Amino acid sequence: MRLVVVGAGGRMGRMLIRAVAETEGCTLSGAIEREGAPVLGQDAGVLAGLAPLGVAVTDDPLPVFAAAEGVLDFTTPAATTFFAELAAQARIVHVVGTTGMDEADLAKLAAAAHHARIVRSGNMSLGVNLLAGLVRKVSAALGEDFDIEIVEMHHRMKVDAPSGTALLLGEAAAEGRGVALSDTRVSTRDGHTGARRPGDIGFATLRGGTVVGDHSVVFAGAGERLTLSHHAEDRGIFARGAVRAAQWAFDRPPGLYSMADVLGL
Ligand code: NAP
Repeated sequence: MRLVVVGAGGRMGRMLIRAVAETEGCTLSGAIEREGAPVLGQDAGVLAGLAPLGVAVTDDPLPVFAAAEGVLDFTTPAATTFFAELAAQARIVHVVGTTGMDEADLAKLAAAAHHARIVRSGNMSLGVNLLAGLVRKVSAALGEDFDIEIVEMHHRMKVDAPSGTALLLGEAAAEGRGVALSDTRVSTRDGHTGARRPGDIGFATLRGGTVVGDHSVVFAGAGERLTLSHHAEDRGIFARGAVRAAQWAFDRPPGLYSMADVLGL
């Protein structure tokens, strides 16, 4: 499968180039960065710490998308909605790992999914998607007697909060209870907040250092507490998941898919 990496110079972009190069049956057919980015013109393999792959980083996505079968996109919401339109026009697979997308961005992705096969997930790792399944089950079994709090920590460069993964886990907890996360979500607490509202799903965000991604879902009841956790140690898990998602979507009909679909969970 011929795959393009957009945001090729980013932390995830470099991991994605490596994952494509290491996956049998996949070749890197293009690498895209922003206009003016310092890595333009560099060999994508060298950029990712590999031997040269003969693919130069460019800022012109049109011809690159036209010659590809899929695009791997871990960039920014604005860039992702732009690439979604191009991927739909080129009728290629679009794997979206970008987080921090708002309702308007998601509506644009849904529109593009009429023509493109899009796989979007706030976390592309097997472990977190399994964790989401466990959270859904535990949340359904325990009910509102147990308060749900989601704690996450990421590296100091992360720009959105709570993380896409924390929200994915929050959605799973809300689904288990049969409620909407938007009605129960509490993302900040500061000052005199009053007592915790029964049924709320709380989020706490920590930022610092080089942490790849830690998530815990705490179910706190009277006199006991259950905690389900995942610790990502290496960004490679997300990159390999994204390549797997592209391969899975290759012969699917157009639509918006999740990592749970890819992993058959
Ligand atoms: P990053 O290092 O800042 O990388 C983003 C890259 O995208 C940068 O190189 C940036 O270039 C580039 N970019 C921005 N706008 C662009 C455009 N219009 N065209 C081409 N390239 C563009 O961030 P990261 O740590 O790799 O994370 C990227 C995203 O992936 C974040 O939303 C993060 O939360 C998410 N993420 C998701 C998962 C998952 O499993 N779903 C896992 C890890 C991270 P400049 O630096 O020049 O702006």
